[in-house]
Amino acid sequence: MSIKTRFAPSPTGFLHSGNYRTAVFAYLYAKANKGTFALRIEDTDRERSKKEYEENIMESLAWLELPHDEFVRQSERITRHTGLLEKLVREGKAYVSREESKNEPGKTVELIRLKNPGKAVTFHDEIRGDITMDTSDLNDFAIGRAIDDPLFHFAVVVDDADMDITHVIRGEDHISNTPRQILILEALGFSIPKYAHLPMVLASDRTKLSKRKGAKPLTDYRAMGILPEAMLNYLAFLGFHPKDDKEYLTRDELVAVFSFDRVHTSGAMFDETKLFSVNQHWMRKLTDEEFITRGELDAPDKEKLLKTIPLLKERAQTFGEAREMLSGELSCLFSTPTVNKGKLLAKEPEDAPGFTKNALEGILELLAGLPNDVSAEQVKETVMPYADGVGATPGEAGSPDAPLLGAFRGAVLWPLRYALSGAERSPDPFTLISIVGKNESSSRIKTALAIL
Ligand code: GLU
Repeated sequence: MSIKTRFAPSPTGFLHSGNYRTAVFAYLYAKANKGTFALRIEDTDRERSKKEYEENIMESLAWLELPHDEFVRQSERITRHTGLLEKLVREGKAYVSREESKNEPGKTVELIRLKNPGKAVTFHDEIRGDITMDTSDLNDFAIGRAIDDPLFHFAVVVDDADMDITHVIRGEDHISNTPRQILILEALGFSIPKYAHLPMVLASDRTKLSKRKGAKPLTDYRAMGILPEAMLNYLAFLGFHPKDDKEYLTRDELVAVFSFDRVHTSGAMFDETKLFSVNQHWMRKLTDEEFITRGELDAPDKEKLLKTIPLLKERAQTFGEAREMLSGELSCLFSTPTVNKGKLLAKEPEDAPGFTKNALEGILELLAGLPNDVSAEQVKETVMPYADGVGATPGEAGSPDAPLLGAFRGAVLWPLRYALSGAERSPDPFTLISIVGKNESSSRIKTALAIL
């Protein structure tokens, strides 16, 4: 029989990375075995289920590119659930019980209870091996709030059976539900699927990841500028490791290597820092053009933007950061900065008035010999020996003591970088000149000279 898995989220809140990790594993297992991946929205809790959450689930799965081959909405199957509840009652395998409400004492409620044979149930977990649990203390547990209002466990097993789900892949927190679900399946005469319970996804304090622990909806990561291939890669590694210890795998590579025997039983910690570094890896894999389109980057000058990408690849771990850099510390690349005299002179040696002005004039002369379109290395090769030598040249910059080579490097490079960027923090001046172009750089230096 061909393999079929499902992801069965309840749209009662925003799902977090831990929930989507389950979807990723169910998808990978299905695809690794040329099987089918189904999505079932478990929306039978009418009060807590919200359209908004369901839409967010659909959006997140689409973003991660986990397309489902089949879609089921649990609330639309209520007639089927009711029919089977009635059947169990008719066959004497379940009964309607009228009892006092636990929540509202004094009020009588009706519950459908399964006649529990009270035996030990053993099932084979694909990840953990055989698990045995005694079900006698579950007593005759409830399977419906009313004949037309099935409880969670009942709806889940009926749908899994009707959908021919071969492998139920879900979080470890469902292990304790499995024996009672098996009892329901047995009462219905349905076959028992295989089970794989995934290790918990933990927060940084090693307790279960939850909204209270700051777990974000997946779409927040999309907004932060995480690439879906990075998120998929990261989620797949929460509790799974391929044989060869590779860290970065594409979807196809993941499908090729995924198997339950590489899934751990111990919890996996969700670590945002690690996610960001995985993301940076995938960002760096993009061509510069792709980087711009996929990062939705914008700048007044497209050509300059393209030249800025290597810098962004070096510095940004998310596209959100890249966008911030473009409008923040890198904005000087796209618009002429304003500079002030005090800052231009901030590194002027006390005993050498006029040093800064001389240095900038010297650099201007050197730049004159370079083409407009020039690489950072080329600029560095031209300017650095000058910056290192200027203080040592007798007569120049007024240093009679011929100080060590390079002693004035900072006094030359600082005003240059500041004249180009108008900022205390910016990329080095060689990179700035290579992106801004020699001509515009020269004119920025001239502006600074005019101020001096
Ligand atoms: N709807 C359940 C949940 O969100 C999943 C049930 C299952 O996977 O069996 O926890």
